[in-house]
Amino acid sequence: MQPKIEDLPKLAKDKHNETKKFFTKLKKKPPKNLDYVMQELHEEAFERTDCLQCANCCKTTGPLFTPKDIERIAKHFKMKQQQFIDQYLRVDEENDYVLQSVPCTFLDADNYCLIYDVRPKACREFPHTDRKKFQQITNLTLKNVAICPAAFNIVEAMKQRIK
Ligand code: SF4
Ligand code: SF4
Repeated sequence: MQPKIEDLPKLAKDKHNETKKFFTKLKKKPPKNLDYVMQELHEEAFERTDCLQCANCCKTTGPLFTPKDIERIAKHFKMKQQQFIDQYLRVDEENDYVLQSVPCTFLDADNYCLIYDVRPKACREFPHTDRKKFQQITNLTLKNVAICPAAFNIVEAMKQRIK
């Protein structure tokens, strides 16, 4: 069952210690077929997920913008890269370009992304649950399960599948 967005932070918090323990074990000894399992769990979860009904990632957390993202999106707007940066971005504590504010400026009232075809790589890949060597991003995932209902479900399914 898909958890409700408003319940997700508490659900993730209640599971935090259990999930952390599970990830510690996973990092120590990742199963040989982990990439395959993650691909399957990711596909299953997103078949049941309508991101247009959610958009919680776009509303609560922004992507980081790589130099290539900036180049592509500025070109899309026919803007100079520096002009795009000044208008929409700031540098965060880790020295990455991120949005000046959330919800994302490029999210419309119906949860559509206004720059979908040229959106940042991080948006295309979020919540990164189908990436290879998933065990390397467990710290990030520990945060994402409180934001993304699909990621939450994927991690819960992992616990059932990987003993
Ligand atoms: S990726 Fe996750 S948080 Fe973002 S819209 Fe889809 S289900 Fe919601
Ligand atoms: S650029 Fe598009 S996909 Fe990325 S956070 Fe903004 S609205 Fe969402």
